[in-house]
Amino acid sequence: MAYLDTQLFLGGEWRDAIDGRSLSVRNPATGQEIGRVAHAGRSDLDIALAAAQRGFETWRDFMPAQRSKIMRAAAALLRERAGDIALLLTQEQGKPLAEARGETLAAADIIEWFAEEGFRVYGRLVPHRSNPAVRQMVIKDPAGPVAAFTPWNFPINQIVRKIGAGLAAGCSMIVKAPEETPASPAALIRAFQDAGLPEGVLGLVFGNPAEISEYLIASPVIRKITFTGSTPVGKLLAGMAGQHMKRVSMELGGHAPVIVCADADVALAVKSAGAAKFRNAGQVCISPTRFLVHRSVKQEFAAALADLARGLKVGHGLAEDTQMGPLANPRRLAAMAEFQQDAVERGATVLTGGERIGAEGNFWEPTVLTDVPLDAKLFNEEPFGPVAGIRGFDRLEEAIAEANRLSYGLAGYAFTRSLASADLLARRVEVGMLWVNTPAAGSAELPFGGLKDSGYGTEGGPEALEAYLNTRAVVIANS
Ligand code: NAD
Repeated sequence: MAYLDTQLFLGGEWRDAIDGRSLSVRNPATGQEIGRVAHAGRSDLDIALAAAQRGFETWRDFMPAQRSKIMRAAAALLRERAGDIALLLTQEQGKPLAEARGETLAAADIIEWFAEEGFRVYGRLVPHRSNPAVRQMVIKDPAGPVAAFTPWNFPINQIVRKIGAGLAAGCSMIVKAPEETPASPAALIRAFQDAGLPEGVLGLVFGNPAEISEYLIASPVIRKITFTGSTPVGKLLAGMAGQHMKRVSMELGGHAPVIVCADADVALAVKSAGAAKFRNAGQVCISPTRFLVHRSVKQEFAAALADLARGLKVGHGLAEDTQMGPLANPRRLAAMAEFQQDAVERGATVLTGGERIGAEGNFWEPTVLTDVPLDAKLFNEEPFGPVAGIRGFDRLEEAIAEANRLSYGLAGYAFTRSLASADLLARRVEVGMLWVNTPAAGSAELPFGGLKDSGYGTEGGPEALEAYLNTRAVVIANS
């Protein structure tokens, strides 16, 4: 499928920006421009806001069954179109085609799950203390029009986790999707349009992220903010939302520890944490980063992880045998070079990788470093790239303390055959999501979100819907 230019979706129509501005979209595998995306200005945002208000007034009165029907139809269209959408996604983001198709199909599953969960938004009746003729009701209703800010690493899925819950709750939403990867989000929104979503319920804008967030967050129309991206930007937006007393959900960066105990199935640890590390070239918020390995198995683990990394076929996402694509943009390449140089200067040993591949596109070798010092940037800042750092430990408590040392608290992984160790890890590792003896498998029905600087709120499970609902008390006396 040919790559298409992307327009804004405002008030149920696809349109260019009023002042005609647009931005370049580049293929990260070649560095070449493949299309343009419309750049919204304030007049476009005003149209989006007015439409979101109208859309909210329509959608909030739709019954859960009606909402569910439209959401299910959109999910079916996504499945039908997954092949074409994946082609767009891979061209603009770089991930292998199979991963892009998997992301699109997973999006359909998430939308369907929320379409069902929308039926289970209940209030309650609370007995009055003295008067049986008084009905005390707790009512849940949609929070109002939402501004959603989403990043480029999972251009479809990051949106779906927000609009799945938001639409099921009865909110309208303006999505500020990533300028680097605009066409696949547009295809997602089009599926909702074609499924019969009323005008104004979903809007799609692109432009200057800081200008758009400042304008939308301050607007009295917007009642809720949701953001996925880096911790510094999350803190900025949460601060702005606080000034305007807007509710927020924040899904931010992580620095996932992987604790490999002395009694672990080392082959399983390498296979599952290794695959998770290099998926989407490490540009995943739950990507494993700090590999903390018991000294008795460290050598074996490190050699096997380096072998896995060396064996990966890195290339253009559209090539059939590609297992890892390029980084999404040139600034990630610069970041990888910095992480690498800093770690080596501080004494880390390179087991494999550590270099840019070729001069075209944003390719970085799958990299494994061992004996990474604690003060290396790699062990303190989110690399968001295909770089794994290994350190040894002697006692489990020591590994847990290291896992909790950073201000991040998103995902964690552990490998052990001991129930007692698994239980200790479950209780003590400060993360929003912990996977023990298994690869990460995010699903719509499980909470997805972090603690500490990784944000607050969750984008899965019934709690995800709560984030888009107001809880109100209404008392009616039968006089
Ligand atoms: P960045 O901090 O510049 O941007 C991160 C995201 O926030 C982007 O989507 C960007 O468009 C958006 N953004 C930036 N400033 C904004 C503003 N003022 N208002 C609204 N949105 C704004 O970083 P980047 O170079 O694009 O990505 C690298 C870093 O971002 C990584 O280190 C990682 O921590 C983080 N990130 C996290 C996730 C995630 O899934 N949690 C996804 C993508 C990026």
